[in-house]
Amino acid sequence: MIAEQAAGLGARTICLDPSADAPAFRVCDEHIVAAFDDAAALEELCRRSDAVTYEFENVPGEILIPLAEKYNIPQGYRPLFDSQDRIREKTNARDNGLRVPRFADVCDRESLMKGIFEVGYPCVFKTRTLGYDGHGQVVIRTPEDIARTEPYMGTPAILEEFVPFDYEASIVMVSDGQRIVSFPIGRNIHREGILDLCLVPAPQMDEAVRAKLVEQSEAFMRRCGYTGILAIEYFVKDGEIYFNEMAPRPHNSGHYTIEGCTTNQFRELCRYLLGEPLQEPRLVAPTVMKNILGEDLAAAQAVAQEAGPEEGVYVHLYGKSVSKPKRKMGHITFVGMTAGEYDARWRERFVQ
Ligand code: AMP
Repeated sequence: MIAEQAAGLGARTICLDPSADAPAFRVCDEHIVAAFDDAAALEELCRRSDAVTYEFENVPGEILIPLAEKYNIPQGYRPLFDSQDRIREKTNARDNGLRVPRFADVCDRESLMKGIFEVGYPCVFKTRTLGYDGHGQVVIRTPEDIARTEPYMGTPAILEEFVPFDYEASIVMVSDGQRIVSFPIGRNIHREGILDLCLVPAPQMDEAVRAKLVEQSEAFMRRCGYTGILAIEYFVKDGEIYFNEMAPRPHNSGHYTIEGCTTNQFRELCRYLLGEPLQEPRLVAPTVMKNILGEDLAAAQAVAQEAGPEEGVYVHLYGKSVSKPKRKMGHITFVGMTAGEYDARWRERFVQ
């Protein structure tokens, strides 16, 4: 999706991906097949590019440090590095003005017990690195649940206060170092730890919470000195916002911006990379984004056939060669649709 927008701005793209049939290779101009931690291949990518970005957070931040000194990686390694370890990420968020759930550093049974004592029940155990979409997480509500962390013992982990949130929300921002543009905030609904729906404008979010979320997120981005794109996910509880995690790349909750806004997260990232002035996005109409996992692929194809041209239904299929349950295979954006209208017209098509 970055490559598609870059092409629209007249730029050529080269992508690196470990898989020879990566969907990106069908829309970029050149490609390199290599692992995300292959230092020589990453250097080749940098050498062949005028500007480099990342859209996957497990490219080792350490490998980027020497490359960022030699080549033009406008976002640098810092936001990636800061987001790759949950303890580092939450400490950084707290030190730069955001409220975070209570947390403790855990590495073995003894530190786990100490962490539970400090954080209290209920709490959430998460591996510090490489976790996404709920992988490597255990909710601990009672002492009996502690045994469920056994498979992860010995792996560095974080223990967090369980926030009984009213809802989850996220913001995507792009900064050129002077100016920050923010995309309208979405309310995120997860299923089994994976984003299922993003609703924009966020239902139930009052203006005071919205303004606080924008103001604190932009202040955080400035204080950290991050430029380029940054997404932050929050828990909202009784009008308070709690930082959950951040990602210095286009975010799944921002996919709705392609049709739902006057400019989108991929395009503004490209403008930043190309040194062009950023454009302030505006919501076109209420929008619902539905993620399509493997189990919903056939339903998504049927929706694509069936939706009338006037309905504002945009089906994106990524063309991944293997479809599996819980694997993100695409998304559908419903523009001009509220959550209630989505429930009435489309919801039951998909696995509940
Ligand atoms: P994460 O990978 O940290 O984004 O976690 C995946 C999902 O698990 C989140 O989107 C929440 O729905 C839930 N979750 C994670 N951490 C917490 C927490 N501290 N309190 C309550 N729910 C959580």
